[in-house]
Amino acid sequence: RNIIEIHDLKKSYDDGKIKALNGLNLEVKKGEFLSIMGPSGSGKSTLLNMIGALDVADEGTIKVAGIDLMNTKELNEFRSQEIGFVFQMHNLIPNLTVLENVEIPMYETDLSSSQMHERAMGLLMEVGLEDKADQIPTKLSGGERQRVAIARALVNNPSIILADEPTGSLDSKTGDVILKLMSDLHEKENVTLVMVTHEPYVGNMAERIVNVLDGKIKN
Ligand code: ADP
Ligand code: ADP
Repeated sequence: RNIIEIHDLKKSYDDGKIKALNGLNLEVKKGEFLSIMGPSGSGKSTLLNMIGALDVADEGTIKVAGIDLMNTKELNEFRSQEIGFVFQMHNLIPNLTVLENVEIPMYETDLSSSQMHERAMGLLMEVGLEDKADQIPTKLSGGERQRVAIARALVNNPSIILADEPTGSLDSKTGDVILKLMSDLHEKENVTLVMVTHEPYVGNMAERIVNVLDGKIKN
């Protein structure tokens, strides 16, 4: 079963002068680990932004987790229920603790504070950071901060994790550890993982790699 179905998707910027997506087709199976590669400026981030409903396409069809993103008014609800984001820059909130950062996405749910605490601690344990729960992010290393961001992305049990160069700001050894962690969590949490990355190492873990070129999938 496909959790993502994209057909002939187009998105341009600057009044049509820049065609970021130019008739892109892509299907992703539920539970798949897909890696997206391609040169800078080819449209990878734009594609992730469309899948995560951070921005709206101009033309074509895009259906994610059963929702027709071109024709729904409930994009915020879709995003908070179905998608977890992991970016190159972790964008953690600097004056909240690690635990509070992981809890943030749950504030929109009707979980009690003790349920939130339990879920967040459980995920911090999974990423190996339970002993850093009360620290503030600025005290952590880059790899640790990215692990917090991964825990935060998973906290609402999303059906899809969208990761845009999650190792881009890390040294290669730390990057490999983060990739391995994401791959393991993908299996364990049974989540679909769509990752934009330049890491050649991802080839050992991703179930499929697609290349984006000039706003289309080119394999
Ligand atoms: P990639 O992620 O592969 O580097 P992007 O999706 O970021 O590529 O960008 C694709 C093209 O669209 C590039 O030419 C980029 O400069 C342009 N682009 C992306 N986002 C915007 C934006 N918000 N405004 C104008 N141009 C954009
Ligand atoms: P990457 O190459 O790592 O995918 P970019 O640096 O191309 O990322 O883009 C980072 C962010 O800036 C994206 O959200 C993209 O939409 C936006 N962006 C990219 N190019 C432009 C541009 N020419 N004008 C405005 N925003 C842009």
